[in-house]
Amino acid sequence: MSKKVSFFNFSINKILSPDQSILDQARIRLLYYGFWIVFVAAAGLLVSVYFQHQFILTVTAGIVLVLLFSLFKYLTYRPHWQQISHALLIMATLVNINNVYIVMQKVDITTVQVMLLVILFSFYMLGQAWGLFYSLLNLLPVLAFLVLDYDESYFIPLVPEKVDQATTIISIFANFIIIIFIHSQLYNALFNNIKQLKKTSEEQIELNTKLELAIEKAEKSSQVKTEFLSTMSHEFRTPLNAVIGMSNLMLMGNPRPDQKENLNILKFSANNLLAIINDVLDFNKIEAGKVVFERVQFNLLDLMQNICGGQMLRAEEKGLKFILKIDPGLRNKMLIGDPARITQILFNLISNAIKFTKKGNIWVRVNCEEEGQDAITVNFTVRDTGIGIEKSNLESIFEPFIQESITTTRQYGGTGLGLAIVKRLLELQGLHMHVISKIGEGSEFSFNMEFPVAIELAEEFYRKNLLSKTTTSLGHVRMLIAEDNPVNVLLMKKLLSKWNITPTIAENGERAIEILKYDNFDIILMDLQMPVLNGFDASMLIRKMPDPKKSGVPIIALSAAALHDIKEQILDSGMNDYVSKPFKPEELMEKIQSLVTTVA
Ligand code: ADP
Repeated sequence: MSKKVSFFNFSINKILSPDQSILDQARIRLLYYGFWIVFVAAAGLLVSVYFQHQFILTVTAGIVLVLLFSLFKYLTYRPHWQQISHALLIMATLVNINNVYIVMQKVDITTVQVMLLVILFSFYMLGQAWGLFYSLLNLLPVLAFLVLDYDESYFIPLVPEKVDQATTIISIFANFIIIIFIHSQLYNALFNNIKQLKKTSEEQIELNTKLELAIEKAEKSSQVKTEFLSTMSHEFRTPLNAVIGMSNLMLMGNPRPDQKENLNILKFSANNLLAIINDVLDFNKIEAGKVVFERVQFNLLDLMQNICGGQMLRAEEKGLKFILKIDPGLRNKMLIGDPARITQILFNLISNAIKFTKKGNIWVRVNCEEEGQDAITVNFTVRDTGIGIEKSNLESIFEPFIQESITTTRQYGGTGLGLAIVKRLLELQGLHMHVISKIGEGSEFSFNMEFPVAIELAEEFYRKNLLSKTTTSLGHVRMLIAEDNPVNVLLMKKLLSKWNITPTIAENGERAIEILKYDNFDIILMDLQMPVLNGFDASMLIRKMPDPKKSGVPIIALSAAALHDIKEQILDSGMNDYVSKPFKPEELMEKIQSLVTTVA
């Protein structure tokens, strides 16, 4: 690494910089101080050979001294240690060969020393490849000379020069000093390097420990957050269950028109609150990577009718025309996928379309894009003639808690979580949402999803099945409810009385088992969180009862917890189905009907 300094610099400190590695700094230091030692030695030799009138050696020493000084100057101006090392090694090689072949015409201890110096210096300064190169460049000619000399065939018409003892002592002594100096520098650099490595590895270990602790802490806090949210949601859902249930009941009891209006507002607000709680909980779960997609059989026509049923009413209430178009080719197909998640995605898109449209139409289109042997690709499109979205906001609306503008929040409410959930649910399945929108004209959200096809239903069978579901009466059903919360009990009793069912109540799982021992039931509604014995354990014990009539009784779980989380546990405990609290009366009715008729 070069450092810009003035041409007149002679200080080593100015050419060293922290950017250079420990080894490079040592190399520069070695050159710098090495030059001083060599100056002294070369000057001593020059004086010595001059006074002995040895012409070639004097000229050689003079040239060497001038070259050394030039290189030294170059080093203190630009510390290009590699180039300077090459120059020094070439000089040493030339001097060595000159000495052996011309000046001395013999190999003496000085030659050996110079060779040693070249070997050490070239390896240390320039690495293995150059080290080998310069070592051989010096060694081979000397070896050749020895062979030639041995044969006594070597002859040049120049008398070898003889040096006196003083010159020999100076050169031997100087060479040893340089060898020692090179080693001490090398050792220092090595030692410092090891020290730094040790320090770095200690720092790394410390950093790793800190990192592990931080990850552990973050994981813990995210777990605490998830647990907190699911506990809170449970706590919120229980009273909400009562609010929604009571408003349902009161609406079913022929209220006066003014009461009906108030009750509808009450129900609407409670449902809104529930939707927000569900959104926050869902988003939290998606972020925690806890979403598992189901693979169950379902019919798209059926599913779309369920999703759009309620939404059509809402659109009509706002004076919007709701058009649902389903590809006729999809009518009779049983597909495999996750209907709950598809519902969630489409529900969000359709709710937004209705929310952000004042007049005009809402189109929901389900098209078969591609039909393979045992899989089909379906395109879902939700289009509206609403307020539209700015082009620049088309990406940001998919970010959590982001709405198009403050005005949107003020005018339309909402949390800004709906589309974030939709986007993440699609992304988790490797899918992408496509949006086209124009301000004042409307928006279109669409995506493709591939489904394996299970079977094709015969149309007749499908119709019959649909019909038979809705005609069973529930008056005869003997029902046991295990529920500890008195408000919920009251609510259930009132609701069931509308269907002419008089249930038996058990305040916990243990009581439910006792009652079941002495009586027979057609169905049990089992709350999951109860004192003494919870719903899971109670169901498992029921399934183990010796009497097959009792052990085989259908059980529907009732839970205020988010069902996605505990669904498997519910089925593993032997329960047949589940209803999430606050439940829709029709959903509960449908599930009771299907279980009672299947078993009967
Ligand atoms: P929220 O509906 O709770 O505000 P979303 O994440 O569902 O949250 O939507 C984010 C924002 O995207 C909305 O606030 C709205 O500004 C914009 N948006 C979504 N759907 C539509 C639509 N169909 N028409 C116009 N704007 C929309």
